[in-house]
Amino acid sequence: MFSMDLIQFQRLFNKEPKYRLGQAKKALFQDLIQNWQEAATLPLSLREELNKKWPIEISAKTFVSKDKNTIKALLTLKDDLKIETVLMRHQDKRNTICVSSQVGCPLNCSFCATGKMGFKRSLDVWEIVEQVLFFARYLKKIKERVTNIVFMGMGEPFLNYQNVMGAIEILNDKEGFNLGARHFSISTVGIVEGIEKLAKEELQINLAISLHAPNNSLRSKLIPINKKYLIEIVLKAVDDYIKKTKRKVMFEYLLIKGINDSDSCAIELAKLMKKPLYFLNLILYNPTGIFKPSSSLRIKKFKEILEKEGVMVTQRYRFGEDIEAACGQLVAKDGRK
Ligand code: SF4
Repeated sequence: MFSMDLIQFQRLFNKEPKYRLGQAKKALFQDLIQNWQEAATLPLSLREELNKKWPIEISAKTFVSKDKNTIKALLTLKDDLKIETVLMRHQDKRNTICVSSQVGCPLNCSFCATGKMGFKRSLDVWEIVEQVLFFARYLKKIKERVTNIVFMGMGEPFLNYQNVMGAIEILNDKEGFNLGARHFSISTVGIVEGIEKLAKEELQINLAISLHAPNNSLRSKLIPINKKYLIEIVLKAVDDYIKKTKRKVMFEYLLIKGINDSDSCAIELAKLMKKPLYFLNLILYNPTGIFKPSSSLRIKKFKEILEKEGVMVTQRYRFGEDIEAACGQLVAKDGRK
């Protein structure tokens, strides 16, 4: 365990018998207590000390979509900055948390509301873990659990690599939150150093690449960092990752009306995607003011071209549009438009 947060947390137990840390972790991550006073296995004096030095209340406002399947939480951080975390409740009982890794984002992708708010700072390990704990506590009340965690919220996770991995370590820890590595996904616009580092990790985490365009000229317009990490460079890093890990990689492609949804884009995309262990996820764009989503007919045609070319392709169900909790809509606004 390397994360500073965890080391600091462990230090609080230096004078305690060895088993106390395990008891505290169980109370926090498995019993999902909201205040150390609820940790009945710990002595009163320790509970009071922990409440002072490591408070675990989480301050958040929630917004529920009309169909009740998406819940967005606006969390207030210690410096009063705000971040958004989203719970997606699937029909098959899976509960996915979409976690933020930064407050805002420095990469300024043209289709993304988070990019438009600018970059404030990266989150620390605990601030990432708290997002999951918030919804784990929420789900506990209805006797359900967090089953999947995706780093697809605000920010580029590979620009905060160490803290993202530190949080995964805690959430994956058998004594801690105990969620299996295969239930985590990290989505990147293609920060090559991050892909290379992830390939070397022992954990079997899923990797997703936000591609959104089949050629560099269009991609650089949508995702400015593409000028540094050209498509061929990103795909080379992905191929090396697959060679090393033998794991599938998901490519995400937002379908934006009149921008990247033409037949020729589909043909170009098919050429890039026809590789073993690549799979493509088409996502309907959620309007954020500048662009519009592709029509259902266009999506159908786009998908047909890819399927005809033999690409493994799926289409993602859209969550939480009415509460601005959908992909690219997270901006940490205190309320709805
Ligand atoms: S799409 Fe991702 S990387 Fe691009 S600006 Fe938005 S949060 Fe940042």
